Amino acid sequence: MRVVTEYPAASTVDDFHANLAVIRARIDDAARAAGRDPAEVRLLPVSKTVESDRLRNAVAAGCDWFGENKVQEVKRKHGELADTGVKWSVIGHLQTNKAKDVAALADEFQALDSLRVAAALDRRLQTLGRGIDVLVQVNTSSEESKFGLHPDDLAGFLTELAPFSSLRVRGLMTLAALSADAERVRGCFALLRDLRDRARDTDPDLIGPGELSMGMSGDFETAIEQGSTCVRVGQAIFGARATPDSHYWPN
Ligand SMILES: *Cc1c(COP(=O)(O)O)cnc(C)c1O
Repeated sequence: MRVVTEYPAASTVDDFHANLAVIRARIDDAARAAGRDPAEVRLLPVSKTVESDRLRNAVAAGCDWFGENKVQEVKRKHGELADTGVKWSVIGHLQTNKAKDVAALADEFQALDSLRVAAALDRRLQTLGRGIDVLVQVNTSSEESKFGLHPDDLAGFLTELAPFSSLRVRGLMTLAALSADAERVRGCFALLRDLRDRARDTDPDLIGPGELSMGMSGDFETAIEQGSTCVRVGQAIFGARATPDSHYWPN
């Protein structure tokens, strides 16, 4: 269920230590409750809207990856935090004309949902002589405001991705419905797991390890119950965001 909580702001290294420990413990508990190994679930801290001076403290508290939704923002922070060696996961919708920035600075791209973007990314990556991990984003909520492939288009898309050798497909990503209805949220996560299982049955080579990136501050425990291997958590680590979600998922 989406727990409605106050997300207290965190800025010092101690704040981040404390918040990370709480979230990690909740992840571990959720995994054990589902009969899973907690080590299977990665915590990706989502740092959008958080300025680099605070992110430095989060790095000092142990963060070695940040997830960012917008290319302009990750570009700036990548420069500001270059000395820390922190890695960047781009988790937001990408326009073809920004593919070169993602190819240059991201270690992972979690929102792949078009062949045009795949082709543009692959071309840039081939030029740079590097590859990145990618997750295919699926729209499991049927909400028009969400990006991602229609579930019916996934199998064909995975087949068409195979020739892009710089894109290492690791699995799938989704955002659940923004709903207080726990069953509806659970259904979105269950659908992604189902799609992953079916893709594996069809051709395991096309989906790599079959990771499932699902779950955010308000719903990560449900996502772990449904098989998540990567939770993307922003506000519960960094504090409440002033920017409304509609900025990231336009209606
Ligand atoms: C912002 C964002 C998150 C994290 O949301 P929180 O509510 O801050 O935990 C997860 N995934 C994506 C794609 C995001 O843009």
